[in-house]
Amino acid sequence: MKSGCKYGTHRVILPEGVLPQAALKIDNTMEIYDNEILVDVIALNIDSASFTQIEIEADHDSEKIGRKIMEIVEERGKMQNPVTGSGGMLIGVVEEIGAALKDKIDLKPGDRIATLVSLSLTPLKIEKILSIKQDIDRVEVKAKAILFESGLYAKLPEDMSENLALAALDVAGAPAQVAKMVKPGDSVLILGASGKSGMMCAYEAMKRVGPTGRVVASDRREDALEMLKKNRFCHEAFAGDATKPVEVMTKALAHNGGREYDIAINVVNVQNTEMSTILPVRDGGIVYFFSMATSFTKAALGAEGVGKDVTMIIGNGYTRGHAEITLEELRESESLRAIFEELYV
Ligand code: NAP
Repeated sequence: MKSGCKYGTHRVILPEGVLPQAALKIDNTMEIYDNEILVDVIALNIDSASFTQIEIEADHDSEKIGRKIMEIVEERGKMQNPVTGSGGMLIGVVEEIGAALKDKIDLKPGDRIATLVSLSLTPLKIEKILSIKQDIDRVEVKAKAILFESGLYAKLPEDMSENLALAALDVAGAPAQVAKMVKPGDSVLILGASGKSGMMCAYEAMKRVGPTGRVVASDRREDALEMLKKNRFCHEAFAGDATKPVEVMTKALAHNGGREYDIAINVVNVQNTEMSTILPVRDGGIVYFFSMATSFTKAALGAEGVGKDVTMIIGNGYTRGHAEITLEELRESESLRAIFEELYV
């Protein structure tokens, strides 16, 4: 067995010298190096921004979506959408563990895992697409993948279905960061609040703000917002188009007694929503961009342009304990779990 770099740089083909995530092409030969893990893939959970882009390009036709996914993986050696740059994650069964890793990790062949590093850097070889579930961005496949030594993973829990765990772990970074960022008494605005990560963030924010705080949810569909209110995942909610900043700001402030927010969280899956997130936040507040459709340029120049001295956080997909915090939400809240079962499984 050959020895590999902890970060997987030994698999980078093009351009030379970059890490696998930034590479245009990586080596997806399914013969492992001594510090890699070979995974027999069950399903891919394509990142929402990526899946939405492919779906639109393919006119929502499953065959065309499948062809596009195969094309991307054949060209890049990984499932990284060339337009959004994003990936997603996968679930599978550990098939083989490199000799140099065997004694260092708590995994053995046969364990079922979810990879918690993006598909945008994971060597992947798809033999066949078995089915495409457009409503939940999921692609069932016959495929193999490689996890690098630095690659994060979670063993799939026994007390919930694989698909339920996969749905939640896909967005694990967001609720876990909300858990660390939101303090008692904070006012929190969430854009895209009735989506998958939105609901988890809203639930977590409600827990963290306590009786003196306030969580206001926004999304574009009224019915979905009713569901959030009914389940007490927010104090108040309003429908609005996150690509229309003035409209969103006006409604957002009206739902917070005219005051600007301490924190705004963006979990929308479309472009041009930066200013709707920035405008309603007070000077010294926090703007948290989890959305992969966020533009650094638009956020940075936009905040400067309106003279907002806010701290802007890029939604790192990983924060310590993110898988545990996220799965715990589904154990704590029967209603959140029931909604996830209904919508994403
Ligand atoms: P999701 O379930 O599709 O949720 C997105 C929500 O945004 C939906 O409720 C959607 O409403 C709403 N929305 C779309 N366009 C809108 C608009 N113009 N105005 C207001 N709301 C709008 O997506 P998700 O899985 O939670 O992911 C959310 C974002 O996080 C995506 O951009 C995804 O790429 C990103 N993400 C980031 C990481 C990371 O590591 N940072 C990891 C995973 C995902 P409809 O349902 O009506 O369209």
